[in-house]
Amino acid sequence: MDFKDIIQDIYKNVKAMEDCGALPTYIPDLAEVDPNKFGVHITTMDCQNYGVGDCYQKFSIQSIAKVLSLILAYKLLGAKIWERVDVEPSGNAFNSLLQLEVEKGIPRNPFINAGALVIADILLSELKNPKAEFLAFVRDISNNEDINYSSQIAASEKEVGFRNIALCNFIKSLGNIKNNPADVLDLYFDICSLEMHCKDLSELFLFLANNGKKITDKTPILTETQSKRINALMQTCGFYDESGEFAFRVGLPGKSGVGGGIIAIYPDKYAIAVWSPKLNKKGNSYKGMKFLEEFTSVTNLSIF
Ligand code: GLU
Repeated sequence: MDFKDIIQDIYKNVKAMEDCGALPTYIPDLAEVDPNKFGVHITTMDCQNYGVGDCYQKFSIQSIAKVLSLILAYKLLGAKIWERVDVEPSGNAFNSLLQLEVEKGIPRNPFINAGALVIADILLSELKNPKAEFLAFVRDISNNEDINYSSQIAASEKEVGFRNIALCNFIKSLGNIKNNPADVLDLYFDICSLEMHCKDLSELFLFLANNGKKITDKTPILTETQSKRINALMQTCGFYDESGEFAFRVGLPGKSGVGGGIIAIYPDKYAIAVWSPKLNKKGNSYKGMKFLEEFTSVTNLSIF
């Protein structure tokens, strides 16, 4: 299937739609982003690489990076990782403290903030230079040395990150954070501050459409089983408290971030990235979700 015309048409329609959603305000620098930005990029297993709109402008990928930190921690710990973090949708807000006490500090999944903080704690325990080694890992998967943290975004979030500070200390008190909470938070804010554009994202994540192997030289990043599990987690937990709705409307594993980005994967076929900064009430990109819903409907290419 040639995706170029389809993507162009849907892009035009969705761009013209009434302006719904709002910028996130709880991270000051994210509230300053141009709300009209809109980019899409697809990379396919049969070597199509196509994008429209603001697909070459970098943005803050925020929680999309939680997939990458989970993957690195999974490689380091193997199946033992599931003793520290569960694999169930939370049914609560991404930054909620509610379930932690009942579940003895084991976060419901690695994509809510509590889970990603535990993953950051694992990286801190397992790596000598976690910040540099995580960045090197991400650059290596994508063969792209141009990917970086944003110290400005990390600092902006740190100044107001009271909820994450509370979460991290709470999990520490329950015994599931092993390092100094300040160090865990520092690494967590850096991970969330990674910047990429839609083309970077669709190229980077294509290995999850390829059973965990790089497309270029077939190097395994994950085993096939691990890759299946990451896709399953993205399907069930990748869209905050709206993962069911995303499966219902779009029907692809994926992950969103409060920077307005979404990556979605069709195993064996493609990875597609969308960026539009205004978010719906659940924190997912309003136009990003609309675009992907149209895309999987028109192409008949959802996993369901
Ligand atoms: N850094 C953000 C936070 O911790 C990530 C939120 C997100 O993208 O879901 O609140």
